[in-house]
Amino acid sequence: MTENGRIKIEKLLKNPVFHTIRDISDEMGLRSYVIGGFVRDIFLDRPSKDIDVVVIGSGIELAESVAKKLGGLKLSVFKNFGTAMLKYRDLEVEFVGARKESYQRHSRKPIVENGTLEDDQNRRDFSINALALSLNKETYGELLDPFNGMKDMQKGIIRTPQDPDITFSDDPLRMMRAIRFATQLQFRIEESTFEGIKNNKERIDIISGERIADELNKIVMAEKPSIGFKLLELTGLLSIIFPELQAMKGVDKVDGRAHKDNFYHTLEVLDRIVPTTDNLWLRWSAILHDIAKPVTKRYDKKLGWTFHNHNFIGTKMIPKIFKRMKLPLNEKMKFVQKMVDLHMRPIILSEDIVSDSAVRRLLFEAGDDIDELMTLCEADITSKNPEKVKRYMRNFKVVRRKLKEIEEKDKVRNFQPPVTGEEIMKTFGIEPCKAIGDLKAIIKDAILDGEIGNNHEEAFALLLKKGEEIGLRPVKK
Ligand code: ATP
Repeated sequence: MTENGRIKIEKLLKNPVFHTIRDISDEMGLRSYVIGGFVRDIFLDRPSKDIDVVVIGSGIELAESVAKKLGGLKLSVFKNFGTAMLKYRDLEVEFVGARKESYQRHSRKPIVENGTLEDDQNRRDFSINALALSLNKETYGELLDPFNGMKDMQKGIIRTPQDPDITFSDDPLRMMRAIRFATQLQFRIEESTFEGIKNNKERIDIISGERIADELNKIVMAEKPSIGFKLLELTGLLSIIFPELQAMKGVDKVDGRAHKDNFYHTLEVLDRIVPTTDNLWLRWSAILHDIAKPVTKRYDKKLGWTFHNHNFIGTKMIPKIFKRMKLPLNEKMKFVQKMVDLHMRPIILSEDIVSDSAVRRLLFEAGDDIDELMTLCEADITSKNPEKVKRYMRNFKVVRRKLKEIEEKDKVRNFQPPVTGEEIMKTFGIEPCKAIGDLKAIIKDAILDGEIGNNHEEAFALLLKKGEEIGLRPVKK
């Protein structure tokens, strides 16, 4: 271990919670270790708040004594799993007895027995996830690294400690985890581990959609998600879990004319949207913005390749994809549909002379999601021609400026009709009927087209005029 690594461990293990675990373990004659992701993340400078403590013996009994010693902290005990969890300051510490696991073919749930530290390390998925630090006094802070996890971390490698075919067949979720870690840490998957995933890809079928979606979302939110999607494609997992995205790969050529590879284009767009804590669904919009290109693709002798209506067909494909992938079918999905539907509008706007009414209509349809739509559209410009990119970016600036100006002036972003249906009924003394919807639509269009201002006075005057045209007269008050 490097000097730097040693210093980091010493600093971390100064935390009173570890001292308490040390003292109580020694008193009770138990051996205990901090293990897994927390240890890995110390060396990778990824601050983590989840601590796993493994005990040779009862995790629950040790946890009970530690919680008592720390002033009667609340302890959550999960008897069925033999685990107990306490919160100390901003840390979450989970205690569990060391275990040995054996698997049956039809399930990823193992048969569990009590075991040694080695047994417990043997059941871990990757060498970098099997590191343990001793918490007993005479060996406090000693690193136990049976599978050369430190070396793999330095080389940037994801590798299973055991035979990869067995590791992945036992618990196929590990295939998704391997690709997720490779993406988050920007590590390479070692050759035989990679082959193991390829050989066992069909086993992903025994994993629930929710678990797959959890891992996929972690890939989507990584700094460079394209790493993960390329690995999913190369291992053959993508065509099983996300066939619509797989279908985007490849290029067709007719009369010597080819279209771009939409799979790689999509990944480029995705990488260009900087991850923030709350833009998971914008990133999903990037993944799905061209999802209907394979099904709408046509070759026309004059026009070349066309993908007519792919935005609209794309929005129709989304509910089925979300349902199958166990993604939420609520307003998050609606947001993604809206982004996919509108993703070409700012580009079309920027290619033309930007008219006020076109900007007003875009503002009206995008509402509060306009900024995210613009981010998606800018990311969508992946042309290799620097002149073209420059021109688009310049035009986008104009669109953004116009959006701002018009919103300040006309306030159509969260459009509320200045004349309500209720008022229309009262004005003309009529019952609910189709004419009310028609009149409201006429007023809305007139505002969006800039024929009248977005205010009650002008809207009401137009209402009276249009009412009269269809034979409606205001009732006397
Ligand atoms: P993150 O917090 O980023 O998800 P992590 O490695 O801490 O990473 P957890 O799911 O909390 O992930 O798992 C904690 C530890 O448990 C892992 O480091 C690994 O040692 C072990 N582990 C988790 N899932 C599996 C699995 N499917 N197969 C084998 N070991 C696993």
